Amino acid sequence: MEDCIFCKIIKREIPSDIVYEDDEIIAFKDIHPAAPIHILVIPKKHIPSLVELEKEDEALIGKIYTVINKIAEAQGVKEKGYRVIVNCGRDGGQEVGHLHFHLLAGTKLGEKIV
Ligand code: AMP
Ligand code: ZN
Repeated sequence: MEDCIFCKIIKREIPSDIVYEDDEIIAFKDIHPAAPIHILVIPKKHIPSLVELEKEDEALIGKIYTVINKIAEAQGVKEKGYRVIVNCGRDGGQEVGHLHFHLLAGTKLGEKIV
């Protein structure tokens, strides 16, 4: 089966602006930023969405939040704050079928839904 677009980014088959990488996680700038800072943080493991999470992924998801905090610090927004969004499934507005965490920052973000 063909790799998804984010798996291709992981393999450097398509270009991206990578801001963080380790053996399990990679983060790169969103191609259509919705805020001055808009970074996608993803597991290298192809997990299609939050509903596909398995028990063995629990530590990985915890680590993603630690990495998000590190990236926020590196981007200089840890003090002012940021927003993390995960869209899941059709009603959640998920467009890319590889679990990703949107890190949004750099301005006072717009209206909250929740
Ligand atoms: P979602 O709607 O939650 O699935 O978010 C998918 C995100 O991926 C959108 O914000 C897109 O702008 C972003 N995106 C799609 N293709 C790329 C790409 N090649 N490089 C960086 N970001 C991308
Ligand atoms: Zn993938």
